[in-house]
Amino acid sequence: MSKIGRPAASRLPRKRLKPLPAQKNLDLFSGTQDHEGVVVALRESEARYRQIVELTPDAILIESLGKIVFVNTAAKKLFRETSQARLVDRFAIDLTPVAHQESLARQLAQLGASNSLLHTDELLQRLDGSTFDASVRRVRVVHDGQAATHTVVRDISERKKREHQLSYQATHDALTGATNRDSLILKLRDAIHQADRHGFGVWVIFIDLDRFKQINDQFGHAYGDQLLQVVAGRLSNSLRRDDVLARYGGDEFVLILRGGSDDYLTPQIIERLVASVSEPIAIEGLELTITCSVGISTYPVDGRNAEELILQADTAMYLAKGSGHNRYQFYNEAIDVQLYQRAIVETELQHALEKREFYLVYQPQVSLKTGRISGVEALLRWANPRLGELMPEQFLPLAEKTALINTIGAWVVNEAVQQAASWEREGLGALRIAVNLSARQIDMAGLLHVVKTALDDAHLLPQRLELELTETLMMSDVKRTQRLLQELDRLGVQVAMDDFGTGYSSLVHLQRMPLHCLKIDKDIVRALSDPDDDSAEAILGRLVTLAHSLRLRVVAEGVENQEQLNILRRHNCDEIQGYMHSAPQTANSIAAVLRKHLNEDWRGD
Ligand code: C2E
Ligand code: CA
Ligand code: CA
Repeated sequence: MSKIGRPAASRLPRKRLKPLPAQKNLDLFSGTQDHEGVVVALRESEARYRQIVELTPDAILIESLGKIVFVNTAAKKLFRETSQARLVDRFAIDLTPVAHQESLARQLAQLGASNSLLHTDELLQRLDGSTFDASVRRVRVVHDGQAATHTVVRDISERKKREHQLSYQATHDALTGATNRDSLILKLRDAIHQADRHGFGVWVIFIDLDRFKQINDQFGHAYGDQLLQVVAGRLSNSLRRDDVLARYGGDEFVLILRGGSDDYLTPQIIERLVASVSEPIAIEGLELTITCSVGISTYPVDGRNAEELILQADTAMYLAKGSGHNRYQFYNEAIDVQLYQRAIVETELQHALEKREFYLVYQPQVSLKTGRISGVEALLRWANPRLGELMPEQFLPLAEKTALINTIGAWVVNEAVQQAASWEREGLGALRIAVNLSARQIDMAGLLHVVKTALDDAHLLPQRLELELTETLMMSDVKRTQRLLQELDRLGVQVAMDDFGTGYSSLVHLQRMPLHCLKIDKDIVRALSDPDDDSAEAILGRLVTLAHSLRLRVVAEGVENQEQLNILRRHNCDEIQGYMHSAPQTANSIAAVLRKHLNEDWRGD
């Protein structure tokens, strides 16, 4: 006897029973004892049962010998049919999508054996092929003397959708839609497990955006959020199907890349990722460029488990960031030693200024028209008793991470300007003095103030000072740089774009910047005398033409040999700077060079 559908008679609604539509005989009680009183009672009971079945909001279907023999009104509605009759006589299994039919058949076989209630959540299919999630209860009954199944179906699509949303929210980052931190660990464990089974490698790639905080502070969080969304979108577009993109923290992303039999992991993949991030981003009419620092750890070489691999990738990223931005670094054991050394450098750097450990060297810039030294570039050096002589690349990136870069930068400007004034007083000529500005320095509101007071104190004309900015720096925030350059222009200070030709400045922007000079990057100059490079000269020609059309002076850097010099001359480059003429030297030895040059033109040959 059925355990459901027979509630106590006292709780039944006292309503008249409407006749059921023409359906198969609903005789649930055949086979019971054929005693007249019992039969009457049973008929009444059956009528009540029908009423319940009709009134219940749940869809009820009865199937026998594989076919549907009865459905109630709720079932008609749920299956979106015009009449109950349309469902009757159908094969019950047709209400289940083909892909699920086998497993359902297995469950039903068990039900047949156990005679208990079978409760499942399953996907059901309407006659038009549309599907919905349903909670299904099945129980054995007897129908027309035959074994039958009484099925109660409840639509749970909404609940499933909510569950799905909840589980999505629990495993994904709300802002970017990337996998979240908790879920990352699980996915990485899974990737490691797969890698063990199939013998593939796994890369964990830790990506941290450079200077994100600065952008967030300056343009607001809403802007920062959009930027993160754009970056996440770009990263995810560069991934393959099985790769994972996770947001690890504020501006940190972690990728899991799996190798395959013919799917090798190569550094080109990383280069592509880095390049995709650093494409200019336009949000709300504001275009800027953001770069990232990347650390990579590999399984099974570097670490045994997910946590270890992430930590190592993070460590490698940290090293990449310290060596300047927009770089990637693979983890290796030597990194820990390097980080230790870096910690020492960082500590020593704190006191370098007060201990007067910095000094400047100067490298002449020679005019190709007159053969005279027209200016010098000041380059920073650090002599530390514990660490020895350090080059800017060894400590500037560390200084840039803190406010130290501002005080060091101000010191350089002062020192260089004083030096130029002092050479002039000694009768060594009215040289232009070029000073490098680091990316972090440019946001210093006090830059203009520093420049102004330095010039005033030294009684040096503003035109004699040239500030060198890099392309990436200018393009990282076009509008703001433009404002700063206009201020400098008003002051009378010159501005040079350093390392030109290595980045991706759009010429449109270049045109809008009040610049005075373009410095052609060493790499391009080196390529001029490289027998394997046959496009360098054409590139140089175009750069010089472009610069001249914008009325910019062109200085070629890193000129080392006659061949380079000849080509530069042929293309009307204005000035050169490099070992061929002289390496950077201390103020004293430069004074000697200048004295010699007072009466002598340099031709190079
Ligand atoms: P940079 O501005 O591109 O400076 C030119 C670099 O090329 C200098 O390296 C210089 O010594 C080197 N160089 C000069 N002639 C040649 C040559 O013929 N061949 C080759 N291969 N190299 C040559 P240095 O002094 O190590 O400076 C490295 C970078 O550090 C500079 O690149 C500049 O970006 C940065 N820097 C230097 N001094 C300062 C400073 O005072 N402030 C800031 N913010 N950055 C600085
Ligand atoms: Ca420079
Ligand atoms: Ca340069």
